Amino acid sequence: MLQQPQRKESTRRSSQKSQETSALSSLVTQVPQGQQQPKMPNSFMDKSFTSNAGGELLLGPQPSRKQGWKTLILDLDETLVHSQFKYIDTADITLPIEIEGQINTIFVQVRPYVQEFLRRMNEKYEIVVFTASLSKYAEPLMVKLDPQGFCKYKLFREHCTLHKNAYVKDLKRLGRSMKDVIIVDNSPIAYLFQPENALPAVSWYDDRSDKELLRLANILDRLVYEDDVRKVLRTLVQNDHICPKQEQLYLSVPTKPKRDNTTVRHSESSK
Ligand SMILES: [Mg+2]
Repeated sequence: MLQQPQRKESTRRSSQKSQETSALSSLVTQVPQGQQQPKMPNSFMDKSFTSNAGGELLLGPQPSRKQGWKTLILDLDETLVHSQFKYIDTADITLPIEIEGQINTIFVQVRPYVQEFLRRMNEKYEIVVFTASLSKYAEPLMVKLDPQGFCKYKLFREHCTLHKNAYVKDLKRLGRSMKDVIIVDNSPIAYLFQPENALPAVSWYDDRSDKELLRLANILDRLVYEDDVRKVLRTLVQNDHICPKQEQLYLSVPTKPKRDNTTVRHSESSK
């Protein structure tokens, strides 16, 4: 007889958990921990597919201080943060989010070195956050994650292109020269249309000793001087991972003289 209420309680908890999981999955686009990064299905690899680059551009003009700079597109979930509904006392940010009339708390862990990464990249790039998650979660999160406002533009799920049930970030819709755009993302599907612009990030969940953002920053510090970032990324990235050998080679080349903002500028846009 004692087991019955326990079973009921266990069923209630399990149902509550699945409701929470489903609520989170409706808000946040994540790669579950323990799963491999989603690979592009063969049908996605069809090179004849051309993205729909028509329509309204997603970004406005570059900030005046950054006219002509390269654009760094940053993913949010599992690239800069990891979020969950389950209470954790190690959360760096807690976000109350209203879902179907109820306030739910989202517990956010921030990847090590995010602030340093944003500050460092802000000196060299126009930074844009582009997430496949919903704005009602991502917008208040960005207020806390980027209090200094290094990311002028923020793009959400509604700015993605739905392709075969996947949210793709079509970089051609940004209104920037493709030779000057780099996307840092943990999900290959996100950069499906322009894989040659991707600098893949390893998915992050809770490892406090993670140094991936410092690793990426070292590469990005150099990429800013390239005439066409795609030429380097094509060699550097293999099977949706940064090739350690190529990375070492690229970083071992003596640094080019530091240019001021004027010389980092790129001339005519070539889309
Ligand atoms: Mg992600």
